[in-house]
Amino acid sequence: MKREDMVGRARAREGPWDMVIVGGGASGVGVAVDAAARGYEVLLLEQADFGKGTSSRSTKLVHGGVRYLEQGNVSLVLEALKERGLLRQNAPHLVSDLAFVVPNYEWWEAPFYGVGLKVYNLLSGRYGFGASEVLSREETLARLPTIKTDGLRGGVVYYDGQFDDARLLINLVTTAAEQGATLVNYAAVTGLTKDDEGFVDGVLARDLESGATFRAAARVVVNCGGPFCDAVRRMAEPQATPLIAPSQGVHLVFDGSFLPKGNAIMVPHTSDGRVMFAIPWHGHTVVGTTDTPLDEAPLEPRARPEEVAFILETAARYLEKPPTRADVKSVFVGVRPLVRTGDVKSTASLSRDHTIHIDASGLLTLTGGKWTTYRNMAEDAVNQAATLARLPDRDCATRTLNVHGFHPGSAKFGDLHFYGSDALLVEELVRREPALGERLHPALPTVAAEVVFAARHEMARTVEDALARRTRALFLNAPAAAEMAPKVAELLARELGRDSAWRGEQVRQFHELSAGYRLTGR
Ligand SMILES: Cc1cc2nc3c(=O)[nH]c(=O)nc-3n(C[C@H](O)[C@H](O)[C@H](O)COP(=O)(O)OP(=O)(O)OC[C@H]3O[C@@H](n4cnc5c(N)ncnc54)[C@H](O)[C@@H]3O)c2cc1C
Repeated sequence: MKREDMVGRARAREGPWDMVIVGGGASGVGVAVDAAARGYEVLLLEQADFGKGTSSRSTKLVHGGVRYLEQGNVSLVLEALKERGLLRQNAPHLVSDLAFVVPNYEWWEAPFYGVGLKVYNLLSGRYGFGASEVLSREETLARLPTIKTDGLRGGVVYYDGQFDDARLLINLVTTAAEQGATLVNYAAVTGLTKDDEGFVDGVLARDLESGATFRAAARVVVNCGGPFCDAVRRMAEPQATPLIAPSQGVHLVFDGSFLPKGNAIMVPHTSDGRVMFAIPWHGHTVVGTTDTPLDEAPLEPRARPEEVAFILETAARYLEKPPTRADVKSVFVGVRPLVRTGDVKSTASLSRDHTIHIDASGLLTLTGGKWTTYRNMAEDAVNQAATLARLPDRDCATRTLNVHGFHPGSAKFGDLHFYGSDALLVEELVRREPALGERLHPALPTVAAEVVFAARHEMARTVEDALARRTRALFLNAPAAAEMAPKVAELLARELGRDSAWRGEQVRQFHELSAGYRLTGR
C-alpha cells in the first residue's frame, strides 16, 4: 500500500464510486472490506490516521459482553459471541483466547457467577472459547497470585477473546486494498455535495499532506465517523438531530507483574455498578475502564483526575499490592459512539447495539456497536447501502475471508507474532540490513525494522502513526515511546524522503502528544 498511489487514484477518478466511506475506524474499514469483497468500487477517506479515533483505544476484548447478558440483551450477546468465533477463525494471528477470573469474596458469588458464566458459554455454541469453571480459593490464587487474600473464598474462570485493535485495523485496511478498495489517510471530508433533487451524490475532501482539495462522486456515501458522525450528518443537514451521546473510557497501563500468570481479572460490579477488567496485553497489564458522558468528542481525549483515581481505587480493592500513579506507564482514552435514546443521563446504560440511520438526503450512517461485531455491522450496512444506491445484488463474502496476515501458527514468530505472515517480511528487512534488528528502547521489544515496514507497507506517515498504531509503544509505555521518537523520525525520514526540519517537527509533536499519555513528569 502506497499513499501516493491511493491519493492519485482518488483524485484521478471522474465517474462516481459505488461507495464513498467517511472514516477509517473499525466501522468504516469493515464496510470497505465487505463492499470491495463483493466487487463494488470503494473509496474510504480518513481525516487523520486509520484508527486514530476510538478503534485503537478499546479494552482489547473480542467478547460477547458478560455485562450485556446481565442486562438481558441476549441478542447482542449471541451476535457478539458468533462474531468473536469468526474473528478468531479469520485473524488467528491477532485474536487469542484469554482466561478471565472473577474473584469471589461473598458466599453467593460462586453460584451466581458460576451459573451466569455457564449460560454465557452455552450461548456461544460451536463458537465457544472454553468451558467456565468454579475455582477453589487455592486454584484462584494459583491463577491470580497478586489478588487480595483477605476474605477471598474462590473464583469463577471463563474464557473470552483478546486482540490488538489497531493492528487488526491496519490489517483490515490492507485486506480492503487487496480486494480493490482505495483508502486514504490524512484526507478529511469537508463537505457533501447534492444532486438537483437534494440527494447526497459525493464528498468534498482535502488531502492534508498537499493541501489539495478534490471532489469524489458517489452512488452512496456511508458515514462511519464514529463519535464525529453527527458533524458529518450536519454537512448534509445543518439541523440534523444528534444520533450520538459520546462517553469516554479511560485505561491505565502497568507493567506485567500485576498479572504474572497471564490470567485476566473481571470485576462484575465496581462501586459505580460497572464492569472493570485487568488484562495482560503485550507483556503489560491494562486496567479499565470508565464511562463518563461528554458534550463534545475530542480526537485526542484526556483522562480526568477523578477517572484515574477511580481506576486506582478499584484496583487497590482487589490487589494485595495496590498500584500507584508512579506505576502507570501509559493512560489512554477512547470515546464511545453510543446511540442516543431520549434524555441521556447515564451513558453506561445506553445500548451497545449498532444503528444504521438514513437521512432524508440519502446519507447512510453506521454507528454504535462494538469492535467485536464490526464484520456483522459492515454486512448490514453494505446490504442497505447497496439497496439505496441500486447497486447490483451481491452476497457478503467476509464470513470466511481471511484477514491480511492470517497465520494459524504465528506464535513461532516470537515478538513479531502479531504480524502473522508479515513477520517474514519484517525478518527479511533485518536479514538485509542487520542494524534494523536493533531494539528502539530497552523497555519494549519494538525493533527498527517495524518502523521501516510500517512506512513501506502500512501507510505510516508520522512518528505517531508508527508508535501509536503500527506498533503500540505509546499505549504500553509513554515515556519509552517519547525516547524512541528521534530514532523513529530518522527512520521515517529516510523512507519517506523528508528533511531534518520535518524530523525536528515530528519529534516535537510526538513529545507534546505523549505527555498526555503519562501521569508522572507533567
Ligand atoms: C473505552 C472503550 C473501550 C472499548 N472496548 C471495547 C472492547 O474491548 N471490545 C469491543 O468489541 N469494543 C470495544 N469498544 C467499542 C469499539 O472500540 C468501538 O465501537 C469502535 O472502535 C468504533 O469504531 P468506529 O469506526 O465507529 O469509530 P472510530 O474508530 O472513532 O472511527 C471513526 C473515524 O472517522 C474519522 N472521521 C470523522 N470525521 C471525519 C471526516 N469528516 N473526514 C474523514 N474522516 C473522519 C475519525 O477520524 C475516526 O478515525 C470500546 C470503546 C471504548 C470507547
